[in-house]
Amino acid sequence: MFQSARLKLTLWYVVISMIISAFFSLSFFSVTHNELDRGLHRFERRFAPYALDPEVEERLVFNRNEIERVENQIKIFLFSINLAIFGITALGGYFLSGRVLKPIKEIVEEQKRFISDASHELRTPLTSLKTGIEVNLRDKNLNLSEAKKVLKSNLSDVNNLKNLSDSLLTLSQIANSYNNFHIYNLKEIIGSSIEKIYLLAKAKNIKIINIPTNYYVFGNKDRLIQLFVIFFDNAIKYSRKNDKVAVKSRIQNHKIYIDIIDKGIGIEERDLPFIFDRFYRGDKSRSRSSIDGYGLGLSIAKQILVEHKGLVLVKSKPNLGTTFTIILPLSHN
Ligand code: ADP
Repeated sequence: MFQSARLKLTLWYVVISMIISAFFSLSFFSVTHNELDRGLHRFERRFAPYALDPEVEERLVFNRNEIERVENQIKIFLFSINLAIFGITALGGYFLSGRVLKPIKEIVEEQKRFISDASHELRTPLTSLKTGIEVNLRDKNLNLSEAKKVLKSNLSDVNNLKNLSDSLLTLSQIANSYNNFHIYNLKEIIGSSIEKIYLLAKAKNIKIINIPTNYYVFGNKDRLIQLFVIFFDNAIKYSRKNDKVAVKSRIQNHKIYIDIIDKGIGIEERDLPFIFDRFYRGDKSRSRSSIDGYGLGLSIAKQILVEHKGLVLVKSKPNLGTTFTIILPLSHN
């Protein structure tokens, strides 16, 4: 597909430059031809009274031959130039169209990967849901309490699927949130994020220690809240019951550094380079079926940070805990 688009684009480059080059060549040739012709006529008119003089006649024939020779040379010259332009634009056009199409090719490949990853992730819970329903439908002895149990498990699968589709939707929509950027107090953003995960923290009796500060950020409010929810949600998910999660902010080089510190299960060193990849789940989280997730949170967070010209750093020690440091440009109210 891209090869044919590249060839088509090259063809357009060549056609356009050849039209321009042919136009200039023809104009140049016609102007030169007219000038030479005019010179010859001037000569003929001037020596018309001596037309029978053999010397003049010889001179006239010489001039005509000379003009023909010069015109032929010009034709060869213009032809060579056009040939060279053809070669250069064909090669240059092929190279340029490759460069022009490269980012588009990357985007299309990324989208294809995204769709195939997403379908793969959707297929697994859907298959389990389908098999569960089919098996239980075939069971003639299924009583009401068992049926309720099945429905409960189905509901949990459906909830997971809903979360997955919400995350996928978010990933595909982030690029459009740029138009809603305003200045916000980080205190408000972090406060709203903590409210959203309050029940999760309460369920595990995890205390969130937050020291509010008056730093301002420029961004999209919903996305910023979502960003912090992702980190808090993970900090809670990967912490043990009764643990603490701390939030600390500071300013350095006109940037806000926000540390989200947990004392949870930590991340293995071999997982660290990949945790921001889509659908990547660390070994520990995969092996613990009790920890929900599809490996999309951090990739969403990364995209939000890219949109906000931010960064994230991570430090982690297995079984000791993890610190994510979110870095955002400082704004002024
Ligand atoms: P999910 O949590 O749904 O698996 P994420 O993209 O949010 O997906 O995180 C990717 C992986 O990074 C997780 O599977 C987990 O292994 C690791 N991770 C993220 N945050 C933490 C944390 N605070 N503590 C331990 N591991 C974490």
